[in-house]
Amino acid sequence: MSDFIDTILLKQEFSHADLVLLLNALGQDKKKLFTRSAEIKKQYVGNKVYFRGLVELSNICSKNCLYCGIRAGNTKPERYMVTEEEVLDAAQFALDNGYGSMVLQSGERSDEQFVDTVSTLLQKIKELSGGKLGITLSMGEQTEKTYRQWYADGAHRYLIRIETSDRELYYKIHPNNKKHDFDIRINALKLLREIGYNVGSGVMIGLPFQTIEHLANDLLFLKQLDVDMVGMGPFIEHEDTPLYEFKDSLWPKKERFDVSLKMVALLRIMMKDINIAATTAMQAIDKQGREKALKVGANIIMPNLTPVKYREDYLLYEDKPCLDEDASECRNCLEARIHMAGDEIGFNEWGDSKHFAKRNNSPKE
Ligand code: SAH
Ligand code: SF4
Repeated sequence: MSDFIDTILLKQEFSHADLVLLLNALGQDKKKLFTRSAEIKKQYVGNKVYFRGLVELSNICSKNCLYCGIRAGNTKPERYMVTEEEVLDAAQFALDNGYGSMVLQSGERSDEQFVDTVSTLLQKIKELSGGKLGITLSMGEQTEKTYRQWYADGAHRYLIRIETSDRELYYKIHPNNKKHDFDIRINALKLLREIGYNVGSGVMIGLPFQTIEHLANDLLFLKQLDVDMVGMGPFIEHEDTPLYEFKDSLWPKKERFDVSLKMVALLRIMMKDINIAATTAMQAIDKQGREKALKVGANIIMPNLTPVKYREDYLLYEDKPCLDEDASECRNCLEARIHMAGDEIGFNEWGDSKHFAKRNNSPKE
């Protein structure tokens, strides 16, 4: 098999069949895949890792995704909203520690009060940092007006994971209704691009009913959408969600992790200059999960700056790591881990995706 893998790895474009084969690679073949993706990372994005200080702004959510621990139907978490002062403290910490950017993430809400609160936060973070901190939003689907308002207020990147690019599978992991509409989610990504955001998406890996063939299609989907950033990681079951009933049919966690690493490596080869996050869900399965992801192609880390008292209530999935580590402990442990992975940290830089810059500097047709 090995010579065959060498030939495939050197192709300009992978077919669906190539991707299925590579996602199944084991032993020496898997090693070759990881060596190739590490080379491409070095060549196209270098060995700088960018930090995005993450604030999990609120766990109040109007949706009911069947996999998520903070879905509206789960009555267990105490619902919270981080205060303005706490968000600005986190922004100050990010600034003082040379993190180039922040991510504000939240359950999905589209009421006016929430939209305006986010606007105020964006303006104040920009003001406090003299425009130095880049801001990414991960607030789910909103109206075009809201996306535009937040862009005008200073957000310049937006993440909406498609979760799976397979329509049928999408409706197995979401309620089938207007609030959880596959086409609206895809359209959101297109709108965000038109408005001018750096656009990010991604998928979960190892979902119930998901196959390697689905995942190969997900990679082709992300490439076709020409995204600037990707965050993807293993699906991790949560006891208080409807999908928990399928827990016995899931791939073992170790395998979900392994396939996630291969997804990161393959995407790095396919989309050489995008930003790829080493996600927290990878760390939830393997203590060194994020470092392993950095080694095979990821270049973004999102240290958690959410005040510790809220973290227990933002459990999207089980075994979420760093529940009791405050931001400064987190920073120390992260720096050591990144150096261990052979990378260095891009302090005080936004670290936008090179892919975004390239697309926007190339002449319009
Ligand atoms: N509400 C926003 C952002 C917060 S959820 C949105 O849905 O876009 C952020 C991400 O957490 C989701 O996109 C999903 O991919 C991930 N997530 C949720 N539940 C998960 C689980 N059980 N296992 C792994 N990832 C999960
Ligand atoms: Fe809400 Fe996002 Fe969780 Fe869906 S994934 S229930 S939108 S927080």
